[in-house]
Parts: sequence; structure tokens; C-alpha cells
Amino acid sequence: MSQTSSSLEAHIRAALLGLAVGDALGVPVEFESRARRKADPVVSMRAYGTHNQPAGTWSDDASLTFCLAESLTKGYDLGDLSRRFINWYEHAYWTPHGRVFDIGVATAEAIRRLERGTPPLHAGGSDEYSNGNGSLMRILPLVFYTRNLPVAERLQQTREVSSPTHAHPRSVLACFIYLEVARQLLLGADRQVAFDEARHIVVAAIANEPALLAEQHRFHRILQQPHGEYEILPLAQYREDEISGSGYVLHTLEAALWGLLRYDTYAETVLAAVNLGDDTDTTGAVAGGLAGLYYGEQAIPPEWLQVLARRADIEDLAARLAAAVK
Ligand SMILES: [Mg+2]
Repeated sequence: MSQTSSSLEAHIRAALLGLAVGDALGVPVEFESRARRKADPVVSMRAYGTHNQPAGTWSDDASLTFCLAESLTKGYDLGDLSRRFINWYEHAYWTPHGRVFDIGVATAEAIRRLERGTPPLHAGGSDEYSNGNGSLMRILPLVFYTRNLPVAERLQQTREVSSPTHAHPRSVLACFIYLEVARQLLLGADRQVAFDEARHIVVAAIANEPALLAEQHRFHRILQQPHGEYEILPLAQYREDEISGSGYVLHTLEAALWGLLRYDTYAETVLAAVNLGDDTDTTGAVAGGLAGLYYGEQAIPPEWLQVLARRADIEDLAARLAAAVK
């Protein structure tokens, strides 16, 4: 990639800040329904609400994203990554205000297995019901590390980094699609080109991967491959009532990509994600990471950045990750 180091750092900063802001927009209304959001849409950074946290407070999504970014500043080491997850869970490492106030069931169970000595590749849930969005929400920094690797290695490292908490092929495929779109945005592609290029790369890459291939049909809205009686409709043309804000990994990925393709600014994209309701912080984080990467830090409303918890630490982390992966 012919990207200057300052441009790479700007992309990493925008992605990390964009993700954390999207998370923080969703935290005060997490678990609330879409009907609530229809009556009272989120349009700005709120305080308190569901978790009684001050404005600008991000949650587990951003915390675990920052754990991965920190780990990658030291190189690629799943043991180091796992220790950082444990440190977050037990000692509030990379929390906004020194306390863990939100954690998914599958992630908590996996971290306890890591604590008991289960190897990282075997700690994550691998049954079909272990497909919450808990690895998708924290996977984004991996793109900066893998961006120049061949696609087979990008896929392998995506699988390995998802697996400490989410090892099922559906979660792995969701993370892979997300990172391939992010990689195209990082390369400078227009969002529709990025989306089209990424899904062609993904379909080709999983052709000889039976476990992932068996999941492909579930991603038909995204990959737009013919499947049974499903209509092949461009993702951006789905109506809001056809997009879910649930904590299921497929729903979160669909919502984030739908938002990216359908709305035209950072703010519109993350607010559309949050106003889907339910798992608002994670949908906001996953959409916000891509939107930050695409529109850049200057597109994030300054009044949201001004209240963001540990903004200076996030910017410092971005600089250190950029230096490590340049
Ligand atoms: Mg959260």
C-alpha cells in the first residue's frame, strides 16, 4: 500500500474514534426498543440512561477494540491479546472510568475459560448459538495489521482473533467480511466500490473453506449470491424495518453495512445504527468504525469528540499502532 505513515495514522485515529463515538451514542439507550427510538430518536450525545454513565462513555465494544489495538502494537500474539481481555475483565484495563459496566455472556464465559488456562483458539464458544456480535465489535484494528498480507493469511488471522471469544464460522465470516470492507476503505475506495470489491474477494476466498461456505447462504443480503427464493436486492435498498438492531452477529453486520451504504455522513450513519434500537452501542460501534474510516475524523461532530472519554489516550494508542504497523 502506498500510504504515507501520517495518512495511516489518520485512518487509524478516525476508525478508533469513530467506533468509540458510535459506542458512546448507543450506551445510554442500550436494550431500548426501536419503538422508543421512533418516539424519541437519538440525535446527539446523551448522558446517563441504561447504564447511568456520563456523556461520552464507551463500553465493552471499544474497550476490547482497544485491547486488540494495544496488543497489535507489540505484534501478533493471541496470548498477549487474551491477557489483555482478562486484564479488562478483572482489573478494568482500558475502561472509560475504571469500571466494567457491560459485558456479553459469551465474552464473559470465554474470558473465564482463558483465565483457567484454555488456549485462545479453544476458549470461544463454537456452537451455533454462540454467534452474538462480541468478536465483530472488537475486530476492526486487525485490518491495520493484516492489510498488506495475502487474502488467505488475512482470513486465517481473522479466524484466530475472533476465536478467543467467538469461534463459530458464522462469527468468523462476519468478521472477515467486515474487515475486507474496512480494508477497501483504507485503500481509498468509494464505499460502494469497497463493498462490491470486498464481497467478491470474500466469496472467492471461502470457496475452498467448507465450514465458511456452509454459512454463505445466511449472508445472502450482503454477499448478494443467488440463494433459493431470496430476491437479490442491493443492501442499501432494504427498508429500515427489514434491518435488525439485535445482538446477533449477522444482524449487526447487516445493519452496519446498510448504514454505510445508505447514509451520507458519519453522523447520519451512526445515528441510523443507534436508532435501530436494542443492541444500540454495538451496532453504533460497528457502524461507527467503518464510517470513521470512510469519512475521516474531521467528519465526526466536534461536540461528540469533546465529551468522549479518554480521547487523548485513544489518539495516543492510534499513533502507537500506526508506528507499529507502518
Ligand atoms: Mg457495549
